[in-house]
Amino acid sequence: MPGIPAVPGPGRLTESVAAIFELAGPLAASLPEFEPRAGQQAMARAVADTFERGGILLAEAGTGTGKTLAYLVPAILSRQRVLISTGTKNLQEQILEKDLPLLEHALGVPFVATCMKGRGNYLCLHRFDAFVGDGAAAPHGEPGVRMTRGASGGHRARALRQDRGDPGRGRQAGAEAETQPGAAVAAGRHRAMRPLARTAAALDGHSRIYLTLIEEWARRTETGDRAEVDELPEDLPFWGEIAATTENCLGSQCPRFDDCFVTRMRQRAAAADLVIVNHHLLCADASVRQHSFGSVIPDCAMAVIDEAHQLEDVATQYFGRAVSTYRVEELVRDGERAALGAPATASEPRAAMRTTLRSLEEVARAFFTALVWTRPGAPQARGATEAGLFDERLRLTADALATIAGAGALVIDALASLDTAVAAVGDAPEDLRAVGRRAQELRADLEFLLAGEDEDFVYFLEVRGRGVFLRATPIDVSSIVGTLLRERHRAAVLTSATLAVHGSFEYIRARLGVPEAREVLLASEFDYAAQALLYLPRLMPDPRAADFAARAADEIVAILSRTEGRAFVLFTSHATMREVHGRVAGRLPYPLLLQGDAPRTLLLERFRTTPNSVLLATSSFWQGVDVAGEALSCVIIDKLPFASPADPIVQARIEALTRAGEDAFGGYQVPLAILTLLQGLGRLLRHRADRGVLAILDPRLRTMGYGRRFLAALPPARRTHALADIERFFGGSSEF
Ligand code: SF4
Repeated sequence: MPGIPAVPGPGRLTESVAAIFELAGPLAASLPEFEPRAGQQAMARAVADTFERGGILLAEAGTGTGKTLAYLVPAILSRQRVLISTGTKNLQEQILEKDLPLLEHALGVPFVATCMKGRGNYLCLHRFDAFVGDGAAAPHGEPGVRMTRGASGGHRARALRQDRGDPGRGRQAGAEAETQPGAAVAAGRHRAMRPLARTAAALDGHSRIYLTLIEEWARRTETGDRAEVDELPEDLPFWGEIAATTENCLGSQCPRFDDCFVTRMRQRAAAADLVIVNHHLLCADASVRQHSFGSVIPDCAMAVIDEAHQLEDVATQYFGRAVSTYRVEELVRDGERAALGAPATASEPRAAMRTTLRSLEEVARAFFTALVWTRPGAPQARGATEAGLFDERLRLTADALATIAGAGALVIDALASLDTAVAAVGDAPEDLRAVGRRAQELRADLEFLLAGEDEDFVYFLEVRGRGVFLRATPIDVSSIVGTLLRERHRAAVLTSATLAVHGSFEYIRARLGVPEAREVLLASEFDYAAQALLYLPRLMPDPRAADFAARAADEIVAILSRTEGRAFVLFTSHATMREVHGRVAGRLPYPLLLQGDAPRTLLLERFRTTPNSVLLATSSFWQGVDVAGEALSCVIIDKLPFASPADPIVQARIEALTRAGEDAFGGYQVPLAILTLLQGLGRLLRHRADRGVLAILDPRLRTMGYGRRFLAALPPARRTHALADIERFFGGSSEF
């Protein structure tokens, strides 16, 4: 193996990194498929240069560049602790399990890497003991074991994790609640607060099977990361009862503190060279630090933010405040459990506390019902429903908040009573004191939300599944994100396949608050002219026309008949997706898969393994989905993916930009839609051997002035308006 300087001296990192990617370098020597790529080399040099000089780099690396290795190599050779943040847990696991072992072998440089995920991914031994009821949770691996690559999350979960999407459950509570795999959104729309399973004894036979699996796993796992258990469904009903949540954590007072998986995860991270997190945890950590609640992720001099185009959205979730049915339910449930454990000598305060909890449950139910009733008839709600994408959010004006102030005041009073009742329990155990603290935090958040006075926030109702949320979200997170990057890291690289619009990083600089960032733009390594055909039908009606879905269905049938299925059909609204599905079903001899019929990962697995299948899906499939090869030979997009101006956050951002004298449509809505469109189209080519058809059914590309901006941003594939060209493309015509 060619010699590599294990620890480059000052100024030598860029040089050392460049050598790794050369034709005679160690990657070529150990990776059979490796071939030097100009884009990858340029990106690796730019990352190394940023690590050496400090500052922020924006790096757009088009598909096929090999950007992951381009930043991992400088990260390893820097000999500093480097934070890698990804948009998804899947990419975290891919880096840890696939990319880093390759590099360890190729570079021959020792390093330690570990993954950190949100607390909700880990088993809480203390809660598990209480749940199984005998206090005899099985022992597990030795505490303090030094975790190296591959030891965390060595297996992939098979099914979809459905996040209940409650990252803003209060400042501290929200800090690590970002990925609560077990707290799945129940089907249907039952918004009433419901009793939760409290102990293993209450489980049905089906759940007991999973409990047995978990008990067996708990004996041997070293990480406690539920991703190790392939068989667990994403919506395991009782996972929320045994997961390591912030709200229930007793910290150093916990009898299982020494064995605690979360503690050990942090210890591993503190000893690692590469710490791999996701944007949710990154923002959760920043939120915790912002409010002086400590920290989660160890300090890292360098950072790489992959899939950086998602960062604004995630930060928006984490720097807000929220109260929800979930948050109250959990407080009541944990309060009841803690009251049971209060000293027998405190029977009177204990009884008072249980009465208070019942009262809280009642007034909270009335409050959330009143909150939901702010919705009917509101013009924003109707607009949002028509737009389809954001039909479960409603902006709340000061007047709307005033209508629920009375009901909210009763909840605030009940929370104060709960806090008082906890304080009255002499010598209260830590579980009970934690309930008191949570009541205080919940009360403070509710008071803030009901006041509705902070002009930097937008206030809104969100109904998702059976959950009801009252939220306040910052309208502009650019200064928060910019400060986070500058203050926490000497050097930070923000990278994605889609950061620039028409070669300019102006939009992303503004959104992420990094005006001073250096930039590098690397074109896709794919030969779009040879590998792809862009089909733009001429006769589609305007998307607002009543017959749009019917005409779209006809076009989709015509296209798919020529591609023999093998397609993603991506929609901007659930309503259109469902209507088109109804119209297409039965007209094609190919298996149709519909988002919502099965968990996301299961749908993708079926798509990959079912010949000629077609998947109809909405926003969550526009990015982060990787299907290489012939299984995906066509991507059809129904409409230009403008974020709905009826969405409270989008609406507030448009208003803020307009107030500031800026062109909200041209400077915000259009660039955002272009980047989203490119993400969707980017699903088609994932490998140099891939070929396929991109189709955009929205005629506004031609009929509206802004359409030219979209056209100019599209990949350099050959364009056609003729269906016959699709046949020729797949038929091996010499023209293609
Ligand atoms: S320290 Fe917290 S997360 Fe860890 S086992 Fe105890 S209660 Fe659970």
